[in-house]
Amino acid sequence: MESLHARYPFFESAREAVDDAAVDLGELVARGDAPAVDRAVERVTAALTEGDVGAPRRRTRTELLSYPVARVLVSLVDEPAVTRTYAQAEAATAVERIRADVTEHADLSYGSGGEVSLSGLLSEFGLDDAVEPVPGEDAYRVGVTAYLRLSSNLDGDAWRLNRRELADGEVPVERDELLVLLRQAIEDRVADGLPLSVPDAIADALTDAVGRVEEVLADIDVAVDIDRVVPELFPPCMHALLERARDDEELPAHSWFSLCSFCAAIGMDAEDVLELLDVAEGEDPVLAQRVRYGLERVAGERGVEYPLPSCETMDAYGDCVNKDDLCADVQHPLSYYEARVESAGD
Ligand code: SF4
Repeated sequence: MESLHARYPFFESAREAVDDAAVDLGELVARGDAPAVDRAVERVTAALTEGDVGAPRRRTRTELLSYPVARVLVSLVDEPAVTRTYAQAEAATAVERIRADVTEHADLSYGSGGEVSLSGLLSEFGLDDAVEPVPGEDAYRVGVTAYLRLSSNLDGDAWRLNRRELADGEVPVERDELLVLLRQAIEDRVADGLPLSVPDAIADALTDAVGRVEEVLADIDVAVDIDRVVPELFPPCMHALLERARDDEELPAHSWFSLCSFCAAIGMDAEDVLELLDVAEGEDPVLAQRVRYGLERVAGERGVEYPLPSCETMDAYGDCVNKDDLCADVQHPLSYYEARVESAGD
């Protein structure tokens, strides 16, 4: 096991290194290999809360083995949004490392010089024939098939093919854009095969670890995929916070961020929130600014900075009020909303 494998555990050579070391995942978790399992929990929880996979452990073995264990954990949690968020975080971390590690001339070895080359990375993902550097420029030409495969899920019109100067079946990209395409290739590889089918013995041995992930998950909105805004279906706690805000009460920071986090999680922007607060455009610039700041704060730059608290935490804040029958069945305000939206759509 080399440092390269710990730093890029999704590489084919890293998987082979684990195979060569004859590490039996079942034995590893069954004997409670605490460092690797702990690090695996951290990989997944940091993905959910920070958008990356946390700080690496010093020991190569711990760091490398935590990756397959993390994939098992994600499989046991078995929420598509968690799988997607985890794969995105692994890819985001990898690209940061690539930025730091890549040199122009090294091959894909990670020796004493710590050098990883761009050509080696392209080869790792089968892209070496699809990507050509543009001589004399910090730019590349990407074969259109590879480009479409890797850009199809990327946000922004700039990625649309009709915005590119396609020539001879190749699409021009800048170096940073090539890294974004590589990030997508990494994300696809991490997500490939998930969720895994996990033998019962391994699932049993990881019960505590899965519980630790689910605890964090209960405070985060990633498990919910709602794209409808129906204020009358909001949970009682959010109705109450909205009412207080409409009455010009300055909510405590935790309550305000909970409200903003809920609104952001269901896809509302600042204009939507102001409308919900019965504030016409330009009528209250101070509140408009507060709303914008709240929404930016909860989103953060690299993930969920202020996740919407679970019902338990809302209760501890004193914000769980006017509970109704459905409240007895949910642990999170977003789960409440999701259930109401689903049953209203029936
Ligand atoms: S139980 Fe949950 S959803 Fe219901 S009011 Fe309390 S915090 Fe909101």
